[in-house]
Amino acid sequence: VERRQYFWRRAVTDKGQFRVLDEPFYQPQGNEVALYEAAYAARLPVMVKGPTGCGKSRFIEYMAWRLGKPLITIACNEDMTASDLVGRYLLDANGTRWLDGPLTTAARIGAICYLDEIVEARQDTTVVIHPLTDHRRTLPLDKKGELLRAHPDFQLAISYNPGYQSLMKDLKQSTKQRFTAFEFEYPAAALEIAILAGESGIDTVTAEQLVNVGAAARRLKGHGLDEGISTRLLVYAATLIRAGVSPREACRMALVRPITDDRDIRDTLDHAIDAIFA
Ligand code: ADP
Repeated sequence: VERRQYFWRRAVTDKGQFRVLDEPFYQPQGNEVALYEAAYAARLPVMVKGPTGCGKSRFIEYMAWRLGKPLITIACNEDMTASDLVGRYLLDANGTRWLDGPLTTAARIGAICYLDEIVEARQDTTVVIHPLTDHRRTLPLDKKGELLRAHPDFQLAISYNPGYQSLMKDLKQSTKQRFTAFEFEYPAAALEIAILAGESGIDTVTAEQLVNVGAAARRLKGHGLDEGISTRLLVYAATLIRAGVSPREACRMALVRPITDDRDIRDTLDHAIDAIFA
């Protein structure tokens, strides 16, 4: 039993598995790197706002690497319960044993805990992060009867997309007012060209053409499209082109078909692609 406990404890406290080993490719949009470092130095919780696929997660990954801290990412969804974050007792052949949830693991080992798309979580789930965000820096494990004090390196980061959720779901003020915030947008053209070239290896002329397709789609936001084409999808198109797919086919497959079911919008975008790659 002792042996098992030893291995168990080692598995849980092993930071290595959560380290970001290789430097993520990240092109800063402004001075967000220095600002994040300042927030981290004070262990202030950080929120990254912006449309889907604009670089929020990549930024957090890059910062974890730069700061040399483990990163634990949690993709939030509405079925997620407080126990999914905090932990629960599991029943096995030897009785019950406690299994830390990812938030608890992050607080124990001193990781950056990144809750991606936090508004997807229900509000009764979201409140469990509150005591970790203020001077208390604690996490009550009620079922286990433990009050966990967060490791000095622990920091909380969340992302959310204010645009498309605001009607249905929003973050409560009582949660919002616990975070500092970065507001991201799709990268400016020159930067997005550099990102596409850096991520996929395509030439800058083709990258610029893709960025022009992105710009055309982003102008349709609110006129039939809820969101424009994300940087992520532009990277997909660039990757397909790099692999030998024709630009027109790559754009249809990676940029247009995923984002719309509306024939008119589809045709408009297809025409824009034909014109740009004429
Ligand atoms: P989200 O905002 O949804 O978290 P991601 O961070 O996953 O988006 O970004 C999507 C993709 O776009 C990344 O995988 C990367 O290829 C690319 N990307 C976006 N912004 C940047 C950036 N500033 N530097 C490098 N790659 C970026």
